[in-house]
Amino acid sequence: MEECIFCKIINNEIPCSKVYEDNKVFSFLDLAPVNKGHVLVIPKEHHKDILDTPDTILADVVKVAKKIAKAVVKATNADGFNIGQNNGSAAGQAVFHFHLHIIPRFENDGLTAWPHKSYEEGEMEKFAEKI
Ligand code: AMP
Ligand code: ZN
Repeated sequence: MEECIFCKIINNEIPCSKVYEDNKVFSFLDLAPVNKGHVLVIPKEHHKDILDTPDTILADVVKVAKKIAKAVVKATNADGFNIGQNNGSAAGQAVFHFHLHIIPRFENDGLTAWPHKSYEEGEMEKFAEKI
C-alpha cells in the first residue's frame, strides 16, 4: 500500500511516537489528540476497515489495545477511556488503514458524548428486525 500513511509509519518511512510494536501490531500517538495520550493501535497488515480485516488480526489488535489502554490510563492518570473506530468517510474515517483510537478521559474534560435521537412508535422494533 504505497500511499498509505500508516503503512509508511510502520515501515519507518515517516516518523511517529511509537508506544508498542510486535510481529503483527503497531501503536503510536495520534498527532492531533482528542486528549493528550490519545493513541492509535493498528495491524501491520494493511486492511482498510473493520469489515476488511480478518478476524484473527482483529483479535490481535484488540488484545494489544487492552494492554495499551491500561498503560494510557496509568501514564495519563485518566479517569476512564474511550475506544473508537471509524469505518467510511461518512463515519469520520480519514485514514483507510484499520485502526483503533484509545482516548484517555478525565472528569469534566469538556468533551460531550454523541448526540442521541429518538424513534417513532414501532420504529425501534422494525430496525431491530431488519438488522
Ligand atoms: P480516523 O479519522 O479514524 O481515520 O483517524 C485518523 C487519525 O490519524 C486522526 O485522529 C489523525 O489525527 C491521525 N493521524 C493522521 N496522520 C497521522 C500521523 N502521521 N501520525 C499520527 N497520527 C496521525
Ligand atoms: Zn496501510
